Amino acid sequence: MELIAVAPGVTAFIRYDEGAANAGLIRTAEGAVIVDTTQSPPDMQALLDAAGIVAAEAHLVINTHFHSDHVWGNQLFACPILAHRLCRERMESLRDSDWTPEALAASIAAREKDDPAWARETRVRIAGLRVTLPTEVFDRRRDLEIGGVHIEVIHFGGHTPDSCVVWLPESRVLFAGDLIFARRYPFILDADIPAWIAALKRLPEFGARAIVPGHGLLCGEPEIAALRDYLEATWVRTAEHVTQGHTADQATADPAYPRFNVANAARYHETNIRFMHEQIRKSLA
Ligand SMILES: [Zn+2]
Repeated sequence: MELIAVAPGVTAFIRYDEGAANAGLIRTAEGAVIVDTTQSPPDMQALLDAAGIVAAEAHLVINTHFHSDHVWGNQLFACPILAHRLCRERMESLRDSDWTPEALAASIAAREKDDPAWARETRVRIAGLRVTLPTEVFDRRRDLEIGGVHIEVIHFGGHTPDSCVVWLPESRVLFAGDLIFARRYPFILDADIPAWIAALKRLPEFGARAIVPGHGLLCGEPEIAALRDYLEATWVRTAEHVTQGHTADQATADPAYPRFNVANAARYHETNIRFMHEQIRKSLA
């Protein structure tokens, strides 16, 4: 993990380990604003320790979307937690279904045989997890002024129905959440792909000086374009396969798909094509 001062008073927590989500810290005269709380309370605590702040100093937490690797550290904070209305709704329903202690234990057990190290680590990570919902919600956008800092939280959808970005107009920093996976395969299993492509076409309009992606290193417009091109080309090509009556297996065997040159590429590459194949097939049925 690396703490990067992206602008005066604005810190990005950039994670190098595969899968870990980035987070942000905005220091204001009224206290800290935290953007996303990572995958667990101990993980989030480590970020706060590295930045030299305590959770009680936080004035506000913002969740960019409901995925567990962005919201499972929420319980550390007693301050208000702001998110899109759909984020709260989705977290509430998961809290009572897939995210109950019993359901989580069962899903870890199911993966234990294939990946015992992951199962062990995950049990430690989520021991004591208390799913903590956003306390304040909005629909389209929320404009804040906290301790003299303007903060705009804007809904885009795409990656998930509730996906938002956090924009700081004075420092021109954009926390893009999982609308951007920088130079890597995106996680798309809750996505509306056409909506995501449309969102990525709008992100350059911010004219950001620094972009903190949900996953990957600090980035800029080339990374937005790379992800947009990947999603667009994969979507269009998969639609062609579906139209020609090809199965998902036939589609994944097509060597002409775009690829990111990263570890575990084959797994994500195929998973994403299969998901798109299913979405497109259903939409045509
Ligand atoms: Zn996500």
